[in-house]
Amino acid sequence: MKKRDYKKIVQDLKEKGYTLSMARIAILRYVMKDNAHYTAEEIHQDLKREYPTLSIATVYNTLKLLSKEGFMQQIMIDPNKVIYDSTLGVHPHFYCKVCGKIEDISSDLSVSVNREINGNRVDDVHVYVYGICEDCLGREKAENKGLPIN
Ligand SMILES: [Zn+2]
Ligand SMILES: [Zn+2]
Repeated sequence: MKKRDYKKIVQDLKEKGYTLSMARIAILRYVMKDNAHYTAEEIHQDLKREYPTLSIATVYNTLKLLSKEGFMQQIMIDPNKVIYDSTLGVHPHFYCKVCGKIEDISSDLSVSVNREINGNRVDDVHVYVYGICEDCLGREKAENKGLPIN
C-alpha cells in the first residue's frame, strides 16, 4: 500500500480549521512514514528523544483527531491496547499470540463495506486473525531441535 503525503494531510487539517503545533506535525509525519501499527505509547517513546517536552496526552489527542478526520483507523485486535493504523480501508490483520506482533495480511477473505446484510447497513468491517507468526514458529522449531538461538 502506498505511503501518504503528510504535508497534504496537514493542509487538509488546516483547511478544516485545526491549528497544528510542531509536536502534532511530528506525530503525523511519524505515523504516515510507513504502514506500521502503533500504540500511543510507542509513538510517545520514539518521539520523546527528539521532542523531550512531548506529552502522552498530545499523542493521544492527535491520534484521536486523525482517526476522527479519517486519516487513521483504530484496530482493536489486542484487548489490552488500542492500535492505530495509517493504512485505511478494510484489510485483515494478523496478531501473533507469542510476540504480540501485528501485521497486515493479504488473504482472500472477502469483506466489503457499504452494503447491506439482512437489511442492516454495513459501515465498517474488521477481520482479526490470531496465531503464531513465522518468526516465532521458526524459534519454536529451533528450540525443539535443541539448536542454539541467536
Ligand atoms: Zn511472533
Ligand atoms: Zn493494518
